[in-house]
Amino acid sequence: MWLPGHLAVSLLACTPLVLYYCRSKEDLILTIPYIAFFAVLPDFLHFEDLRTFSHSMIGLTILVLVALVVLHFLFKIRRAQVLIASVAAAAHLAADWLFGHFFPLYPFSNGYESLNSFNTYIDIQAEVVIFSVAFVVFTMMVLSTRTIHRSIELSNSEKWNVVILILPFLGMDLLETVYFVQNMTTVGLGVSRMILFVIFLTTILGSVVLLRSVMSRRR
Ligand SMILES: [Zn+2]
Repeated sequence: MWLPGHLAVSLLACTPLVLYYCRSKEDLILTIPYIAFFAVLPDFLHFEDLRTFSHSMIGLTILVLVALVVLHFLFKIRRAQVLIASVAAAAHLAADWLFGHFFPLYPFSNGYESLNSFNTYIDIQAEVVIFSVAFVVFTMMVLSTRTIHRSIELSNSEKWNVVILILPFLGMDLLETVYFVQNMTTVGLGVSRMILFVIFLTTILGSVVLLRSVMSRRR
């Protein structure tokens, strides 16, 4: 799947946990970056054998553990964030299984599983629909949580926790958007691809808005 599809599938997979753990907008601001970062984590290693490794159950488990240990060392993360990160990352493999492929038993086997091909007309349409559903769910999450203080306040540690997760996500988002546009020029335009392009821009804008709002908050 493309990045918007991954973000949407991981958000939907994490929704029960988010509804259970996130009571306030502060909780949400500290949770969404975990969904975003771990939703695309396997794609940071998108070169030959490294992709095989990151798109396998053992490889992804190692990647998630390393990332969580580093994050815990830096920010003392909570149980909710560990659970949400794990589900978001696992959802990546499920999404690539649905449209693309993954290697369940690597390094014991190089065999891969695939239900549908990546970047087909059906894939693009499905990603648009899944993202739209996730966007509605996300909006309802934001509207249903309350703000603890008069305005949202984050500690310096919490602020950097968001930044350190959203910056790489934004980098990946920009790279994939460029790649998607290049791909559009060869595969051709079409309404679904144009909508997915707008969705790409929406996720970039959302990341920038989140970064800006977090950077401007101090406690
Ligand atoms: Zn992937």
